[in-house]
Amino acid sequence: MTLSVVPAQELYINHFIKIIERPITEIIVNQLKEQREVLKLDGLAAPQLGYMGIPIFVLKLRNDAGKFKKDDVIVCIDPKIIICKTEYYNAVEKCASIPNVKFLVSRPKCIDVLFFDLNGEAHNIELYNQDVGMWLHEYHHLLGVTLDQVGVRINV
Ligand SMILES: [Zn+2]
Repeated sequence: MTLSVVPAQELYINHFIKIIERPITEIIVNQLKEQREVLKLDGLAAPQLGYMGIPIFVLKLRNDAGKFKKDDVIVCIDPKIIICKTEYYNAVEKCASIPNVKFLVSRPKCIDVLFFDLNGEAHNIELYNQDVGMWLHEYHHLLGVTLDQVGVRINV
């Protein structure tokens, strides 16, 4: 699926650049990337570093998606879910914000998402299986939703 109604640069400007200047955005993105590495996480969202209301997360992909490759760390700015497929799977997930606990979470098998990168370029990609769970996990952090609200605590 390709979105071509509104030029990417305009979307980025409308939704984000007027709220936070690019140098600040770069600082936040760099901190997210560094801390994701340090903490050995799949992904990390701005609110987890105390940047409340800042719609940015980084995520390491487990599979190729669109022009991104497996193991790429994608920067998702102002992310949106476009289509969420109805078939679900059960994922076991953990979260740096709730240490030492695992949760069983029901996740869709496929989602179609839209987000912007640091250059303001729009990306519309389809994600499958594990990448869906991880993307939604980080997306939920932006909404203030944590695993204990969407999953069942399990002992593994
Ligand atoms: Zn988390």
